[in-house]
Amino acid sequence: MKQKTVKYLFHFFASFIFCSFLQGSQKPRFVVVIVIDQFAYELSTRYRSEWTGGLRTLFNEGVVFAEAYHSHAATETSPGHATLMSGRHPYRTGIVSNNWFSSDFKSVNSTDDDYATALDVPAGVKASSNGWFVGTSFGDWLVKHDPKARLVTLGGKARSAIFMAGSSNPDVYWFEPFVGFTTSTSYRLELPEWLREANKDWLKSIEQQEIIWSASKPKSSTFSDRTYLLDGNYLGQKTIKTGLPKMIKQDDAPLDRGFYQRFVATPFYDDLLLQYAKKIIEEEKLGQGDHLNILAVGLAANDYIGHSYGTGGPEMRDQLLRLDRALGSFIKFLQSRDPNVAIVLSSDHGAPDFSERLNEKKFISEREQGSIWLQAVNKRVRKELSKSEKNIVEPFLTIGGSPIDLYLNPMFLQGHTESRQDLMPKLLKILKEAPHVLEVYTREEVIQARPTPHKDPRTLTMVERFSLSTNKERSGDIFVRFKPYITWGMGGSQHGTPEKYDRHVPLIFWGPWKHQVISDAVETVDLAPTLAHVLGIKPTELVDGRVLTLLPKSKR
Ligand SMILES: [Zn+2]
Repeated sequence: MKQKTVKYLFHFFASFIFCSFLQGSQKPRFVVVIVIDQFAYELSTRYRSEWTGGLRTLFNEGVVFAEAYHSHAATETSPGHATLMSGRHPYRTGIVSNNWFSSDFKSVNSTDDDYATALDVPAGVKASSNGWFVGTSFGDWLVKHDPKARLVTLGGKARSAIFMAGSSNPDVYWFEPFVGFTTSTSYRLELPEWLREANKDWLKSIEQQEIIWSASKPKSSTFSDRTYLLDGNYLGQKTIKTGLPKMIKQDDAPLDRGFYQRFVATPFYDDLLLQYAKKIIEEEKLGQGDHLNILAVGLAANDYIGHSYGTGGPEMRDQLLRLDRALGSFIKFLQSRDPNVAIVLSSDHGAPDFSERLNEKKFISEREQGSIWLQAVNKRVRKELSKSEKNIVEPFLTIGGSPIDLYLNPMFLQGHTESRQDLMPKLLKILKEAPHVLEVYTREEVIQARPTPHKDPRTLTMVERFSLSTNKERSGDIFVRFKPYITWGMGGSQHGTPEKYDRHVPLIFWGPWKHQVISDAVETVDLAPTLAHVLGIKPTELVDGRVLTLLPKSKR
């Protein structure tokens, strides 16, 4: 009882301390949320000395939360974006991963929508929506507050555009190869005419264009320039030699799938996203009226570049240099629309570099192929439990290929005399002895380990981190924590673990607030309630995040 009272008082004072205050007149009317896919905080410390543009502005003038963490273990695109804009952990939003298995053991993509139709896309492209998302998000609170307010989202991936929006926001657009930007009938019945025209113009403009990615700054001894030969599967190629320049498209080459795979892993992809962001602001007259307008942009090139070429080479250095410059002119454009525009910057997850470069820097890092690792585990299961190969533990491989949660094939249980409960200790033992494994947990153990609200994300135990992205309906049966710094697959970097390098991301509020660098730990679930609070909006459901303090500039 006494402990409970102390806990209650702590929460009372914590929420009091974290209250932010801004006069009504200083409240922004136009906010742009920029989420850079795979932007570990560490990248900002490594490359910041070279920045002179928009990233520098945001880091030097904003309220910089230097210790912001995704509290959950499933550090992937879908859970990350859903967390940022809902203020709730993935176990509550239902977006526990990019993909999961249904109870009848069918693979589900978090954005799949079998009932909608994708607009203006080639045959075979599936429709996407937020149908799997549970509960409300910032965009829903906004429209409830003022039905004429708008949240518009634009993403380099369907996942980012969709999970930054709520169910009440019809303007949700994402990139689709061979098309430009699209949406689905879950949001609107047809593409706006201006978007169709913009897509046509863009496709025409690149048709005859030669695209070469060259370094925009000379080599520097500060940054590694060594070349590596990596598996090019990710880009539809056999091998990839890291380093710049890279030929992305010869002038007469066709706009085929290979082109799109190479193109999205260049800084030009973020340029394209920002070009469309400007277009959407102009066409939809965002930042002009009396009602709140929010634009959320999901920049995806960082993630594709990290996966293809790692985070510590000339590619990432040049990507961030170019993004810094592009964001500089984007911010000027935004200010020309509304001098009081505010910007929020964060990321859905981080990532480490790939094994070979990490090893040179004295990190202990191994490469492993997820499928080979799993085959070996299944072989052991077969040997110990004498079952045929097809009735064995089936894998759940995340997009990065790191098998963090494993699903037990229901067929395996049906044909087995022992119950799931009896089998579990045997499977856990096999997994504990498998290569690279540090710890294993059952789903039940993980679900029981929910941490107290607002616990310092740096002190969350591993099982607590898993718990925040695990629910009974969608998550796997067994969770594995691997040794840190494993690179899954043969290409560049991967993410999706509960380690710091995947969880620690920037969180910056830039606008009518006094510049501060805050080293107190905060969570990414704090973004949505803080943004809502500064705009005078109330979340319509209980959120997991807190309202962070942003001191007004006038208090200086
Ligand atoms: Zn990724």
